[in-house]
Amino acid sequence: MRPTGKLHLGHLLGALKNWAALQANYQCVFSVADWHALMSEYENSKELRGYGINMVIDWIACGIDPDRAIIYLQSDVVEHLELQMFLSCLTPLGWLERNPTYKEQLREITSRDLQTYAFLGYPVLQAADILLYKADAVPIGEDQLPHLELCREIARRFNSIYKKEVFSDCKAILTETPRLLGLDNRKMSKSYGNTINLSDSEIEVEKKVVSMITDPKRLRKTDPGHPDKCNVYSYYQVFASSQAPEAHQWCSKALKGCVDCKKNLAVHINKELSPIREKRAGLEKDKDTIEDILKQGAQKARLIAQKTMSEVREVVY
Ligand code: SF4
Repeated sequence: MRPTGKLHLGHLLGALKNWAALQANYQCVFSVADWHALMSEYENSKELRGYGINMVIDWIACGIDPDRAIIYLQSDVVEHLELQMFLSCLTPLGWLERNPTYKEQLREITSRDLQTYAFLGYPVLQAADILLYKADAVPIGEDQLPHLELCREIARRFNSIYKKEVFSDCKAILTETPRLLGLDNRKMSKSYGNTINLSDSEIEVEKKVVSMITDPKRLRKTDPGHPDKCNVYSYYQVFASSQAPEAHQWCSKALKGCVDCKKNLAVHINKELSPIREKRAGLEKDKDTIEDILKQGAQKARLIAQKTMSEVREVVY
């Protein structure tokens, strides 16, 4: 995960809950991908370390366990760059230029200049991230499947050129995650300022929920609403599923106004965030421990990475 700012409810539902569950069945390796972040945030590089530390605090507060999983900062394991170099040599330019996410991000992210050599090659670094640990599987969303396929192609090309099965195919662990829109009904994103962050206080959460866009056709409290067209109701289905049928009635029969409906939702979201907030507060006071976790994680990650790199160098030279 790239450390580019505060984590929000979208990260909790889309990744962190899933990651925490995976720890029961897999040896997990979680990377703070600061080199990936640098590819787009190279002008704000000084902030990345702090973002990384805060991100790890959120991870641990959400159940990622440093005693079970390896948690490390990508830039502490230089082997990522070495493997990226070997893989870059044999990755055809056309594979990168055709990458749909690359084109989309060039179009959508206009606040920074991403017409760079590194940004074009970020899927190669991503492939190195996976192959360095000889990962059996990566937990990804469906939109990431083309990247994983590219990683497999690169791995196959490496094996074929050097005539040895150094890397095997890595499978995707696809998990159905509820898609949560932002407060303004657009994609939840820090750059739109429409997120509920894991570090928000109870009051901030309530204020944000009350500001959410609702069914535009429900102008007065006495107008029956259309909960299925309201983003607030979709939050009910995720954070207050047992009360969702009741909320449906409040809305469609005009039994409750939108402000009450939203305030009630805020209580449920705060209930979900409360244990995370509590754990977070403790960890925030002890950033040295987070630094130690990253240091120990990097040591463990390096052991695996160095073994892979010896093998890679042996077949290449
Ligand atoms: S009552 Fe609730 S679900 Fe209905 S429009 Fe208002 S906020 Fe949305």
